[in-house]
Amino acid sequence: MNAVTLDLPTLPAIEPEWQRRVRADRQLLFDIHHAVGGPFHVVYPAQFSENLRSFQRTLAAHGVRGQVYYGKKANKAGCWLPEIVDLDAAVDVASEPELVHALAHGVRGRDIGVTGAAKTDALLRLAARHDCVVAVDALDELARLAEIAQSAGPVRILLRRLPPNAPHSRFGLSADDLDTAITLCARLRPAVELIGFSFHLDGYAVAPRAELAFDLIRLCAKTKAQGLPITALSVGGGFACRYLRDKDWNAFLAHRRDDWFHAGKRFEKFYPYAQSPTGADMLDAILATTFDGRTLATHLRDNDIQLFLEPGRALLIDAGCTVFPVLGYKQNADYGITTVHGLSMSVSEQWKGSEFLPDPILVPRNSDRATSPIATCVGGASCMEYDVLTWRKVPMPQRPEPGDLLLYPNTAGYQMDKNESEFHQLPLPPKVVVSTHEEGRIRWRMDK
Ligand SMILES: *Cc1c(COP(=O)(O)O)cnc(C)c1O
Repeated sequence: MNAVTLDLPTLPAIEPEWQRRVRADRQLLFDIHHAVGGPFHVVYPAQFSENLRSFQRTLAAHGVRGQVYYGKKANKAGCWLPEIVDLDAAVDVASEPELVHALAHGVRGRDIGVTGAAKTDALLRLAARHDCVVAVDALDELARLAEIAQSAGPVRILLRRLPPNAPHSRFGLSADDLDTAITLCARLRPAVELIGFSFHLDGYAVAPRAELAFDLIRLCAKTKAQGLPITALSVGGGFACRYLRDKDWNAFLAHRRDDWFHAGKRFEKFYPYAQSPTGADMLDAILATTFDGRTLATHLRDNDIQLFLEPGRALLIDAGCTVFPVLGYKQNADYGITTVHGLSMSVSEQWKGSEFLPDPILVPRNSDRATSPIATCVGGASCMEYDVLTWRKVPMPQRPEPGDLLLYPNTAGYQMDKNESEFHQLPLPPKVVVSTHEEGRIRWRMDK
């Protein structure tokens, strides 16, 4: 390493086995690039399926009946949906196109949850017609839905609770409105069937989820005693994920300096790239939290309440990556600027005033090039100064050259298509679905 790269941190992503194999194949990524011509996303549904099963196994291990609703907004690919169908899971949607996409891939209406603030009449009508579960967010929405249910048929609903510890949230019903809504629901039967309550919290902590769930279990019991058909409680999404090892992440946080970033760029906050417990282990911790001497799982069982979950990111962790062709590299200072074919909209973290920090990985076209380490930031192929995929000066074993590929690991959850646009009339990067063939060969197809 030369003086330039000495002090700069590396944040190597924890790489799943399938991605290592895709990267190790000398031809695969270059063949795909040859076929698609520009940047592309690689997605691996087998990992999604494994992540989903881990949540289902945790519910089963606690003897809790429940359903896992995939928070669909985290990635638009169709390839996740057949995995969900095969595992008898469900989908959480917030728009008509999302709902129709799920139906079109074989998800039954009764396995679709509809969340979001004030939903359109068209979405509510579609939901009622297809027996979806609607999380009602406000009293006026309940009134509209009741009206629609007169003709569209009976509709099952959850009432979404405004989190008491996040009173400024835009989502959910206040305690008073919740009371009013329950009273209304008793009168709206059978057009509207209140089957339970829901919430979705910011952050990734176990305790606030367990506590609010316990509060709502008591409300379920009380509401059931009034004769309403309460059977379910949804704890939403926000299951934690891990991208980096603790030692790398902690060193980064402890020693962070502004001159680690191109143009002195400053960021106020980053996603917690190393945390625990994650995914299904976090669900396990929630279910094992005790109240009045019994676990949350026991309270759910004793009250005959199903637990609904709505993980988005946690089902997509390790299930995809993004590949940008390198267009060029130049050096105006003691570090380089790499420009890739693609836009920073594909790495959505920039659009929240933050940065996706796991190191991008250089995949050189010629592996026999003489290596001399450099550090580089990464810019997109647009005319905007701020179109930067990576402001951080990332150490690399050699300088990127036109024809090389730059792989961003672990992008499937929110870092693929959440904010993509056709800026400069550039086509959106396609998604390439990879799977392992019988003899261990890797095959690929385009997502539909
Ligand atoms: C976004 C969202 C989710 C998924 O959140 P993740 O952090 O991706 O798990 C689940 N439920 C609701 C209501 C949401 O808005």
